[in-house]
Amino acid sequence: MKRRSLLKGLAGLPLIGLWRAAAAAPPKDAKGVEELQRNWKMLLAANATVPLPTEPLKLPDEEWRKRLDSAQYYVLRKEGTERAGTSPLNDEKRPGVFVCAGCSLPLFTSAMKYESFTGWPSFFTTIPGAFATKRDFLLILPRTEYHCVRCGGHHGHLFDDGPPPTRQRWCNNGVALRFIPKIGAA
Ligand SMILES: [Zn+2]
Repeated sequence: MKRRSLLKGLAGLPLIGLWRAAAAAPPKDAKGVEELQRNWKMLLAANATVPLPTEPLKLPDEEWRKRLDSAQYYVLRKEGTERAGTSPLNDEKRPGVFVCAGCSLPLFTSAMKYESFTGWPSFFTTIPGAFATKRDFLLILPRTEYHCVRCGGHHGHLFDDGPPPTRQRWCNNGVALRFIPKIGAA
């Protein structure tokens, strides 16, 4: 009986309470976010070798076609969007680092991820210098598109309805990411 009333209570929580319950809460203030950004390598597996954002990777289109599978190619090189709820990375909660599926540049850590209930992996901040942005008008209304600074691959869109303190929602296609768990290699 007690359990039932607890569940009933949970169901009544507003959405903002749910993301807190479902994942580690984001830091309380901007200083905490800066710390996550500065210390991102603490979540990188000891045996992982990753490139730097200052080492650009420019390849001809036919080379990308060879390296990427069709879903990755569609998102990364054609600015496509995967269907919501299709990525196994939606439920990835282990400690680790999310890198670009095109070029392995580290983009986010597990500590920057939160549950947005949109069906796409969502993050409230990024590893510094990982992305460049531009405006796009694919849905007529202007949106902020973001792409990997190293290979130019499209990853997703940035919205301003994320959790405090950043209020950012980096809405990322899961197929454009590869997850490297902190323990062992991916
Ligand atoms: Zn990349």
